[in-house]
Amino acid sequence: MKITSAEFVISNQDVKRCPNSGIPEYAFIGRSNVGKSSLINMLTNKKSLAKTSGRPGKTQLINHFLINKSWHLVDLPGYGYARVSKTSKAKFQKFITKYFEQRKQLISGFVLVDVRHEPQPIDVEFMEWLGESGIPFSIIFTKADKLKPNALERNVEAYKKYLTEGSWEEMPPYFVTSSSNNQGKEELLEYIGGINDS
Ligand code: GDP
Repeated sequence: MKITSAEFVISNQDVKRCPNSGIPEYAFIGRSNVGKSSLINMLTNKKSLAKTSGRPGKTQLINHFLINKSWHLVDLPGYGYARVSKTSKAKFQKFITKYFEQRKQLISGFVLVDVRHEPQPIDVEFMEWLGESGIPFSIIFTKADKLKPNALERNVEAYKKYLTEGSWEEMPPYFVTSSSNNQGKEELLEYIGGINDS
């Protein structure tokens, strides 16, 4: 799939106010600074469709974008940012979980993780919650350009091993990406296009 148009639709904190059309959607989520905005901009060929985070965790909004006039790309708030107070953390986690539980239009979530890091409890717990809730998702490894090929492969294998020795029988679908050199872009867009066609 080629992305030929990407338009901002609406931002809000209330799942009930998300677009109520039946347009299928795909939601991107991850820890602040994981590279989510850069990835969304890479996928959509835009410099600043999603705002790259100078101040991570600042805006906690559900952002809907209409892609190719046929599907919604949803940019969810970054989680786990230390400077967010406990109260607001609890609140925003609630609206994130509500989003996943209530959006019938959601085809799949994409959980972004920085390929340089070992599995982090917050990401793994979030994936477990998605799994238990029956919400389909894939993993997107980001910033692949920051590692040499051997180290990259080693880290991906270690992540797989960690998950499959934990609660997953099988590794969820995953993508290795870099917004610096477009690695994984075609593959990810083909995947989204493929689920849209089926
Ligand atoms: P967000 O908070 O998840 O939206 O993260 P951003 O997209 O704002 O990226 C956080 C930082 O990581 C920025 O300084 C980006 O330039 C950098 N970054 C994001 N993706 C990549 C990548 O694929 N490769 C490299 N080298 N840096 C990246």
